[in-house]
Amino acid sequence: MKLKSIELVISAMSKTQYPHDELPEVAFVGRSNVGKSSAINTLLNRRSLARVSQNPGKTRTINFYKINEEFYFVDLPGYGYAKTAKTERQHWGTVMQEYFENSQDLRHIFLLLDIRHEPKEDDILMYKYAVHYNIPVTIIATKSDKISRGAFQKTFSMMRKKLDYHGEKILPISSLKKTGKDEIWNHIVNIFEQ
Ligand code: GDP
Repeated sequence: MKLKSIELVISAMSKTQYPHDELPEVAFVGRSNVGKSSAINTLLNRRSLARVSQNPGKTRTINFYKINEEFYFVDLPGYGYAKTAKTERQHWGTVMQEYFENSQDLRHIFLLLDIRHEPKEDDILMYKYAVHYNIPVTIIATKSDKISRGAFQKTFSMMRKKLDYHGEKILPISSLKKTGKDEIWNHIVNIFEQ
């Protein structure tokens, strides 16, 4: 994918702020600290695009990045942070529900899982949530530099089993080593060509 333009159009607090230009969207979601901002920056060849908008007061916003005037990357708020208060979690749920119920243009969800860890209860819930809304999901396994290549398949089998995931692929990415991005871009291009 040749990146001609990338623009953070809005850090939306509510649906009234979502873009209305009807371009297709792919969304990224995962636990806090899974490496989501890093993965988005890696895919977009930027050092700190995603992080910039993630300052503490804005962690519950939905960030819409317009790419090449053709589609959006939608950066959904992370979940599962151990110290998160109940009210915070409820707010996260409200934000997510509002997005899922109003996003006519959402084509695909990338669920990010740390390659080192078993999917946790909230990852499983997140996966079920996307399935419930009938949105196709692909798993991205982050921080792939943390385990050896030889261990990938075993880890992917474990992830599939734990989530009951029947998707075609699990795509590893290392934002540290900058590996895996071509495969993810190929996947994104395929999504939009369908
Ligand atoms: P987010 O909260 O999901 O947006 O996660 P971040 O992108 O902010 O990353 C969380 C932490 O994981 C940071 O300390 C990153 O440096 C680290 N991290 C992110 N991606 C990678 C990766 O591919 N490899 C390694 N080794 N560390 C990573």
